Amino acid sequence: MESNGGVDESTRLLKELQSLKDSKRDIEARISALEGQLRQIQSNQQLNKKASSDCSNGGSEFGHDLTPDMIYRYSRQLLLPSFGVQGQSNLLKSSILVIGAGGLGSPALLYLAACGVGEVSALFIVDFEICRLGMVDHDVVELNNLHRQIIHGEAYIGRSKVESAAAACRSINSTIEIIEHREALRTSNALEIVSKYDIVIDATDNAPSRYLISDCCVLLGKPLVSGAALGLEGQLAVYNYNGGPCYRCLFPTPPPTTACQRCSDSGVLGVVPGVIGCLQALEAIKVASLVGEPLSGRMLLFDALSARIRIVKIRGRSLQCEACGENATMTQENFQHFDYEKFTQSPLSPAPLKLKLLKEDCRISSKEYEEVVKKGDAHVLIDVRPSQHYKIVSLPNSMNVPLASLEDKLPEIESALKSIDNGNAGVYVVCRRGNDSQRAVELLHNKGFVSAKDIVGGLESWARDVDHRFPTY
Ligand SMILES: [Zn+2]
Repeated sequence: MESNGGVDESTRLLKELQSLKDSKRDIEARISALEGQLRQIQSNQQLNKKASSDCSNGGSEFGHDLTPDMIYRYSRQLLLPSFGVQGQSNLLKSSILVIGAGGLGSPALLYLAACGVGEVSALFIVDFEICRLGMVDHDVVELNNLHRQIIHGEAYIGRSKVESAAAACRSINSTIEIIEHREALRTSNALEIVSKYDIVIDATDNAPSRYLISDCCVLLGKPLVSGAALGLEGQLAVYNYNGGPCYRCLFPTPPPTTACQRCSDSGVLGVVPGVIGCLQALEAIKVASLVGEPLSGRMLLFDALSARIRIVKIRGRSLQCEACGENATMTQENFQHFDYEKFTQSPLSPAPLKLKLLKEDCRISSKEYEEVVKKGDAHVLIDVRPSQHYKIVSLPNSMNVPLASLEDKLPEIESALKSIDNGNAGVYVVCRRGNDSQRAVELLHNKGFVSAKDIVGGLESWARDVDHRFPTY
């Protein structure tokens, strides 16, 4: 039993907690910014000192270019015979761009920051501007990102992913130069952004971005570490490296739109992009440090369910490739006008598509459907989402007939209708966002269920307009 006093008290505590969390976040952001400024000043001072000491060999007193702090911080890597001082020195001088601060980008960025990519306090660096760890993303952190995008925390929900990722990287390693690109990568800005880096990591999740990033890397001669993760599977390859193929060499035509699924529709187990993102960091480190054998001309395939990793050989560079072939048509000029969304028939931004297939009188709003329920009008509600969606949450008294099996299940719908009101009941169709429900109503109309109507905006509109406590996912 909770008295009103208890409710008031918990509201007050929640408010105070929120206000303290906000202050903490702002203070942390301020600390990060000040640390960045301080590093810049110290770095300039070191450069000046170096210039005035006229040290022409460019090395430190230890016969290599690592400072005592670097030796201590990176000692476990320096101890590796195959990596050692030379590998670390190469790594510190490199600059890497990670495109996408989501499921793949999270572990990739954390490891790259930790291992010293973008180190600015190096004595040997004449132009510290060349060393940097860059990140591009235009999105904000959402609660349903956190199960896989481990670089972000609850305190950053609603704020820029790049801001959040940069703060996390700085808290691990305050000696590196982090560049925040809080924008989407487009043909209009890609050449300028990518040109500032040595190596690119594609940690995006859609087809147009993959082609755009690959073409841009070919035009600028940058190696590309490309990763993908969906459901329980992942893949990884290094493109445009040492004469190896580019993404277009392998996939000259985009896959059909239905094959380009996203995590928001198909689901993904958080660890799967985690594994692939770690491997992307590893490949980028190998390329940057000139150590080992990068995954060029080969592709790694990861299957989480069977715990299998396979490496397959892939085709080499294609002479016919539009981007890197002998008669390539892709120039910097063409790139800037190329329509990647049209080419791949799929959108760059993850905003869900909004179909409009039906006439207005074949549709009702979620509020109107609420009236149908309240009045007790005889009707059948068909939920056409896949069964795993239905198991998460559904409206009462609905019947689950996934769109893919709708045509086979027409007799069941018929008998459900006959069992109430002798077949004169209404038929309403609902799905997650109101696209599949329209496709279903079209099919039902063609099969003689002429009164079928779809609920506009699906369960998302029900949650927004009718029942705020109805779960969304
Ligand atoms: Zn190519």
